[in-house]
Amino acid sequence: MAGRPYILSETTWYDVARTTYEVAVLPWGATEAHNYHLPYGTDTIESEHLAAESARRAWEAGARVVVLPAIPFGVNTTQLDIPLCINMNPSTQSAILRDVARALAPHGVRKLVIFNGHGGNDFRPLIRELYPELPLFLCTLDWYKAVDPRSFFTDPGDHAGELETSVVQHIAPELVRPLSDAGSGHERRWRLSALREGWAWAPRQWTRVTADTGIGDPAAATPEKGRRYADAVAARIADFFIELAAADLNDLYA
Ligand SMILES: [Zn+2]
Repeated sequence: MAGRPYILSETTWYDVARTTYEVAVLPWGATEAHNYHLPYGTDTIESEHLAAESARRAWEAGARVVVLPAIPFGVNTTQLDIPLCINMNPSTQSAILRDVARALAPHGVRKLVIFNGHGGNDFRPLIRELYPELPLFLCTLDWYKAVDPRSFFTDPGDHAGELETSVVQHIAPELVRPLSDAGSGHERRWRLSALREGWAWAPRQWTRVTADTGIGDPAAATPEKGRRYADAVAARIADFFIELAAADLNDLYA
């Protein structure tokens, strides 16, 4: 029994040698606390699952998309006071991205999508730096920005809230503790108005912002909400993969 042909870790050289992949997808998560009820691997689990589901739909529509193994560590420099939160600095991420992209570039893959699932990761400056070095189209997406969540959730939340809890209840229910164990995800906001309004920015010291490591109340989460939202996200991103696979890199602007 062969593995899924759009998941590289399940694919053999027998198939790779016969396939021209147009788009590679690199899921990128984090390893961090998610309130009391979601697993540390939440961002990685979500990214890996949704990348696979998006790629499956694109593959079935004829696009040759391949999902690479997920990178499980994100930028968590302001959470190092939380036990077993694992930080990976942006400069380390840049080195990893460069190595992965360099390995793909000589083998016909012309397009690489970073499938990001962690708010602390920002691949845009990394891509800007790599751009002149490689004959590869690099882009990044945050899966949780692909579809407006407001018609799916009462209060989506930011971290281990209703949105994220619903998604994990849908894709990995065995890893979710009862919601009665979860904190309220109450968020303390900046006293400085420019930071509160969002036109000035600084990273937040997580343990000063939230008592339970969550931001957003998970109480109204359900697996059914997670399924509906995850389906919409995967459908939208699959459409992007299909369009990107077919895109002429010399004719990207109308
Ligand atoms: Zn998360």
